[in-house]
Formats: sequence, C-alpha cells, structure tokens
Amino acid sequence: MIDLHTHTTASDGSLTPTELVRHAQAVGLSALGIADHDTVDGLEEATAAAAEHGLELVPGIEISVDYTHGEFHLLGYYVDFRNPDFLARIRYLQENRFNRNGLMIRKMQELGFEVRMEEVTAESGGGQVGRPHMARVLVNKGYATSIQDAFDRFLGDGKPLHIPKVKLSPAEAIDLVHETGGVAVVAHPKYLEFPEEAELAAELARLKQLGLDGLECYYSQHTEAETAQYLRLAEQLELLTTAGSDFHGSSKPTVPLGVVHQGRGGDASLLERLKSAAGRD
Ligand code: AMP
Ligand code: FE
Ligand code: FE
Ligand code: ZN
Repeated sequence: MIDLHTHTTASDGSLTPTELVRHAQAVGLSALGIADHDTVDGLEEATAAAAEHGLELVPGIEISVDYTHGEFHLLGYYVDFRNPDFLARIRYLQENRFNRNGLMIRKMQELGFEVRMEEVTAESGGGQVGRPHMARVLVNKGYATSIQDAFDRFLGDGKPLHIPKVKLSPAEAIDLVHETGGVAVVAHPKYLEFPEEAELAAELARLKQLGLDGLECYYSQHTEAETAQYLRLAEQLELLTTAGSDFHGSSKPTVPLGVVHQGRGGDASLLERLKSAAGRD
C-alpha cells in the first residue's frame, strides 16, 4: 500500500520527516510521498531516513496555485529538489509567506490579541510558518476555542486576519514542476469548485493542454461518488491517477496516515505508472 500525499514539520505537519518515515513503516506502507506546502526542505532528511528504513520515498511538493474556482493545489512528484533554479523560484514564494506572516501578526495585535512572531514560529517545529500555527497560538492563548474556530472567525479566507499569499498561475506552477523534472498532478480535486462534471472535464482538459499529467483521484476526503467521477475523468482525459491521505499528524487529527480509500492505502500499481511518467522506472 502507498500514500503519496503527506506533510511534515517542514510545512504544517506535526511529525518531522524522520518521524513520518518511521510512522509510514509502522503502518505498513511500501512507499511514502511527502509533499509539503511550497517547500522541499523536509526531503533531504526524509530521503536519508527512508534509505535507512528500507522504505521507498516519493519526493514531492504541493504548490498553492492562484485560482478563482476553489482551492487549486498542484502536486509535483519527483521534482529535482536540489536544483538551484527551482530552489530560487520557491524561495520567492517563501519570502512572500514570511512577509505575510508579519503582516498577519500585526493585524492580530491591532485586534488586541497579544501574539508575537516568536510564539507562532515556536508552533511550527522549525519549518515553514502559516495559518495553522497561528490558529494553534490563538487556541493556546484562549482567543479561539479550537483550530476550526480560529479559522472560522479569524484566519479563514476573507476573515479579518487573513492576507492572501502570492501564488503561481496554473501554467507557471505546471511549468515549474516540469522544468525540474517532475510530474504535475492536481491535488484533491474535490476542492476545485465546478458544480457540473462537464465543467470540471473542460477545465481539466484545459489544464492538460498546459501540461497537466495527473489527478489525485484517491484522496482521504473523497466520497465514493467523487472518487468514481475523478477516475472516470482521468481515464477520459488520459491523466495519471494518484492516491494520498493528506496526513498532517496532530495538525489534522482526523486524517490517519495510509488511509486513502475504503480504509486502505493506494495500490502500488499507481506508483509504477507515476514513476514511468517521471522516467524513474
Ligand atoms: P497558509 O498556507 O498559511 O495559507 O495555510 C493554509 C493551511 O491552513 C491549509 O493547508 C489548511 O491546513 C489550513 N486551512 C485553510 N483554511 C482553513 C479553514 N477554513 N479551516 C481549517 N483549516 C484551514
Ligand atoms: Fe496543510
Ligand atoms: Fe492541499
Ligand atoms: Zn496537502
């Protein structure tokens, strides 16, 4: 069984790359994909830990894409995460995030919340800082009753503390993944907002024209009907299919590692096709 979509402390997951590799082995996965938000900082450590534990690591990244129809996250698998040009491009996104964090904390202070950057950084375990860490600080300090409450009232899109991130366009994100030798896959298609299947099909066809390679048809939060729909679209459009839980550890306690579809992990055959698309077979 495989799980190709997980997060570490390099972004907003709660386990370090080494802890995540150990956990993957403990739950019986044969391959683990790590796709932190807009960063590859966990992959060096994960590669070493996976080699030590005899687990197959699929290196990845999850890029936030500028989009008007819901939330578009692009998974880039087998990107060359040591490529200096690639690192420079994503550093630009990280610098914007850093500035945005400062502005959001200033907004908190304007609302009368006593929150300092150091407190938010301390919640991140040394990795990239974002809204989930701010949410934890708001909960710890009694300004919100739960992570969800913090998002619902303060941090969610369009709420008083939210500042949008700079994001790449779909074409830029797909090109970035390809230029770095990667395979470009639309994450959790359920968060794209297209009410009709025909509209989603047309949009995926447009993205395929831009170079899209695959669709995360199996995802822990997809219903059976959604999974069936995405598998149908992937077949029609000749897109690869991937499988991921979006495990974040205690940051998303309801999502266990390795549970992708019907209580199980993804089929190892999906990884074989992904690897051959990446020229890694
Ligand atoms: P950021 O990258 O700092 O904008 O944070 C994005 C992360 O915040 C997402 O990956 C989710 O884990 C979390 N998030 C965003 N919106 C919500 C929401 N409405 N409710 C709960 N979590 C959210
Ligand atoms: Fe996340
Ligand atoms: Fe995502
Ligand atoms: Zn994710």
